[in-house]
This record gives sequence, structure tokens and C-alpha cells, in this order.
Amino acid sequence: MEKVVLSGMRPTGKLHLGHLLVLENWVKLQEEAKCYYMIADWHALTTEYENTGGIRQNIIDLALDFLAAGINPEKSVLFVQSEVIQHAELALLFGMFTPLSWLERVPTYKDQKEKLGEMGKDLNTFGFLGYPLLQAADILIYRANLVPVGEDQLPHLELTREVARRFNFLYEEVFPEPQAVLHTIPLLPGIDGRKMSKSYKNEIAISSSPEEVNEQVKNMITDPARVRKTDPGHPEVCVVHTYYKVYYPEKVAEIEQQCRTAGIGCVACKKQLAQKINEVLEPLRERRIEFLKGERYLEILSAGQRKAEETAKETMRLVREKMKLR
Ligand code: SF4
Repeated sequence: MEKVVLSGMRPTGKLHLGHLLVLENWVKLQEEAKCYYMIADWHALTTEYENTGGIRQNIIDLALDFLAAGINPEKSVLFVQSEVIQHAELALLFGMFTPLSWLERVPTYKDQKEKLGEMGKDLNTFGFLGYPLLQAADILIYRANLVPVGEDQLPHLELTREVARRFNFLYEEVFPEPQAVLHTIPLLPGIDGRKMSKSYKNEIAISSSPEEVNEQVKNMITDPARVRKTDPGHPEVCVVHTYYKVYYPEKVAEIEQQCRTAGIGCVACKKQLAQKINEVLEPLRERRIEFLKGERYLEILSAGQRKAEETAKETMRLVREKMKLR
């Protein structure tokens, strides 16, 4: 069976080093499967319906981040969700036979509604409740059988499988039951040690210039007990050390030893890390420039739309036929 992958991200701002770890897996997958990578703008609207002003720019930023990270438009289909309207048609049809209770019991539904509710967002909307169903349509419209997800997304994928099973049972076999490609992505904290988040401004964007990276790394929180350079440090409580583990693993043992014996100062330790991160980001910067030339990213998105639409139309033709709508 041909391996078909669907994944996507919401265009809510620039991607950071934590996202880059996810994208590295996407890049690997495009060598072994037919991959559809989606800029999920409708998903962004489920929580950001009041603030749509920046969405177009966010779509462009996300497309450039994807391409810079190595998503290859010759191998993968890169597209904007709202430009392939068949997603919406399929979600609507799925809505006809999906019991409300399936959506209400998705664990993130209540959690997120409460959490974002406390931040002043009213998520008592049909769009927010129904978004796992739209996600099911995103996956099944390409009859994808593999979905790269984090552990927190597993219940959503289970719902997608239930929807596929119900459709296949009610009408005729059209959809595969997609399986998770589980990647354990190490959790990167923000530079201040809190969760990495745009609202805390504690992220290192993958589109950062070398100067911005140097500045962000310089501001990273270190071992608070290490006041002087001669004090031995505790790397396990230091944000810099966490970044070393992820982005400079070959240096971790040496840094730990030097830190514990006060053999290196934090300034020098950070400088090496910043250099390494800049080395990692350099090819991304070069690719970004290439894709910006003559707005190549726009052609790529249009070509992606056409390719995605071709498959989506074929699936909808089958769906309508099996549902006796045509
Ligand atoms: S030497 Fe490095 S690992 Fe140790 S506390 Fe300073 S920045 Fe952190």
C-alpha cells in the first residue's frame, strides 16, 4: 500500500526551534511517503476568529518556514487548507453522522475551552467543538494512512479512525484508518525556562538572524546558584544545557564536566551554543532567500493547491457516489 502522510500547522506566528524538531521528521518522511503538508488557516480561525488581520502574513511566514526547514515542493505537496474547499465539504458530510458526544469527549476540548476561556476567549462555538472533525476531513480527503503526531494528538486521530469506520460502515469502503507516526520530540523550554510561547516572547524563531540568536542565547537563564565564574555549576537546572542536549549533543558531556568544575564560564558556554544554533540555521537562511526570490513561494503554494485539489476532488467524487448524492 502506498504510504500517504498528512500533517499541518496553524499559521499563528513564526516557528521556533521546538517546531524545527517536528519539521525534521516531516523532512525525513518525504523520502519514503507521499506527503501532504498543510497550512491550517481554518484551524487557526477556531480560536482566532476575532483577529484575522494578520492571518495572510502568517500564512506566508509559515510557508517560508516550512520551505526553509527543508520541505521540498518537488517531493511534497505544500498547500493552504482554505484553498482546497473540499476539506469543508467533507467535514460537513462527516458532521451529518458524527454523534456530538464523540466531539465533546475529546480531552483537549474541555481543557482548552477552559484554559483559553480564562484568557478571555469565548470558545463556545460550533467551529471549536467541530475542529477535530475538520481535522478528520483534512486527513481523510487525501486518504492518508499515516499521520505524524505528538502524544497529545492521539485522541484526535482516534476520532478520525472512528469517523472513517462509520463512513465505511454506513456507505461503502472509501477511507483507510490512518495510523500515528509517533515521534518523541524533546521538549524545549523558552529562554527564560518557562514553556516556549509567543506570548512570553521567549522563543528563538527559526527565521532569526545570527545577531538575534546571539542575543536570545545571551539572555538564557542559567544556574541561579552560579554567581561567579569560579562557582561550580549545576547544568541540570540550566536552560543552556537543555539546548545543548538537543542541538549540540556531541558537546554535552564536555560542557557538563566543565560546568561542574567551573572550567568554563557561562558567557563562553553560551557563545559556543549560539554558534552551533547559527550553524544549524544557516542552511535554512539560504533556502529562505532562494524561495523569496521572485516570490517563488507563491508559485509553490499554487502548485500545491492544484495537486491537493486533484486528489481531494477524486475523493469527493467517490464520497458523493457512495452516499448516493450523485
Ligand atoms: S556553564 Fe553553561 S551549563 Fe553551566 S550554568 Fe553556565 S551556561 Fe549553564
